[in-house]
Amino acid sequence: MPKNIVVLGGGIVGVCCALQLQRAGYTVRIVERNPPGEGAAQASCGYIAASEVIPLSKPGLLRKAPGWLFDPSGPLTIRQSSLMGLLPWFLRFAGNTRPSRISQISHDLSRLTSRAMVDYRELLGQFGLSDLIQTNPVIELYETEKDFDRARPDHEMRRALGFQVDEISGLQAAEREPEIAKDFAKAVVFSDWRSIVDSERFVTAMTDAFVSGGGSITMAEASHILFEGSMATGISLAGGEKIEADIVILCAGAWTKQLTAPLGSKLRIEGVCGYQTLFADPGVSLAHGVIYAKGGFGITPYESGLAISGTIEFANLDAEPDWRRADILVKKSRRILPKLQTTNGIRRMGRRPLTPDTLPIIDRLPNFENIFVATGHGQLGVTLAATTGKLIADLVSGHPGDMDMAAYRASRF
Ligand SMILES: Cc1cc2nc3c(=O)[nH]c(=O)nc-3n(C[C@H](O)[C@H](O)[C@H](O)COP(=O)(O)OP(=O)(O)OC[C@H]3O[C@@H](n4cnc5c(N)ncnc54)[C@H](O)[C@@H]3O)c2cc1C
Repeated sequence: MPKNIVVLGGGIVGVCCALQLQRAGYTVRIVERNPPGEGAAQASCGYIAASEVIPLSKPGLLRKAPGWLFDPSGPLTIRQSSLMGLLPWFLRFAGNTRPSRISQISHDLSRLTSRAMVDYRELLGQFGLSDLIQTNPVIELYETEKDFDRARPDHEMRRALGFQVDEISGLQAAEREPEIAKDFAKAVVFSDWRSIVDSERFVTAMTDAFVSGGGSITMAEASHILFEGSMATGISLAGGEKIEADIVILCAGAWTKQLTAPLGSKLRIEGVCGYQTLFADPGVSLAHGVIYAKGGFGITPYESGLAISGTIEFANLDAEPDWRRADILVKKSRRILPKLQTTNGIRRMGRRPLTPDTLPIIDRLPNFENIFVATGHGQLGVTLAATTGKLIADLVSGHPGDMDMAAYRASRF
């Protein structure tokens, strides 16, 4: 059995792949250019969102897209300067709006999300890290009965797939969370969702466990994959140094497509920006993650403060953050938490690696025997990291479980 594995990318997916491979007996090195904990998950809502399985391409979305171009305060926006570059991705995205595709994608996502907590419990339990996940579920708030009725088909689809969505009144939501406004019309409790305790420590604690278990980290930019014929031999760093490897796992998030293009694989991934503001002294406390349906963002009680995170902004990979998007969420969050204090917030931006069909890529790279890809998790990277790591470890060790992996193939684009 070849032993030395390089995992390129130390975000949440990379670190979970590294840990699962380490558990399977491999010697693993992570190559990451930034300090641990600073990947996209740092800016996330941190929900292990079991039933967040309905793809972004759901009905009505494309009809609204032209309006979003001119509405910087909406939950989804497209940077005008990036539009031409994004067009090929959007054409494929449009192909996934048919009801039959929505239903198939939801099913394929649910096969992964429904085992997410089991895989996290097993992984974190082994390293004594079970307390990295909070025990409470997540509540979603609706302004009006009409808003709720619009979301009803999504909830019904979730229930049909076996997930738990419990309807409560706005007042009942406020009884559970006394700091939230009492005049929301409706709410749902996503009873099978959980939140992580901190969007940074979740990844740094797992990274520490990986190092304590004998793993190593090289903090450097990788420039390309080295290969001979159908075999990778290692990776080359930006400074010219080479790292040899028997197996390479690509977990470079939205940047993975840049690494696979010279290998002949065009992965369709865009880095969809999301923003967070973290308040260490918010003046209010929450026991649950709370989603504001109309605003399309979440509020999460982390150890390090209260985080307000969301927004879907399509922009080129090299686009600078537009911090106005973070500020809009903060402004809107006062509707939910009237007593929220918004001084000294820390703003963060993360790029969700999103495929046109909202499904991740968990596969061996076409035409290569020893390169594997784990990316494209979009809005579900926190949820699916442990599961993805397990599936990658199964693929690498040649012991695929009983999961049909066809929907997650790299060659599907
Ligand atoms: C606002 C927001 C809210 C979210 N909420 C949730 C949520 O509630 N639940 C959920 O499940 N998900 C959520 N997500 C999505 C989730 O955060 C992402 O899907 C996930 O973090 C992606 O992880 P990743 O490891 O694939 O990518 P990344 O975190 O981007 O990691 C890739 C890493 O590769 C490194 N890298 C890239 N290229 C190179 C190179 N050439 N050399 C060296 N290193 C390289 C990068 O530095 C980076 O650290 C949210 C995201 C955002 C932005």
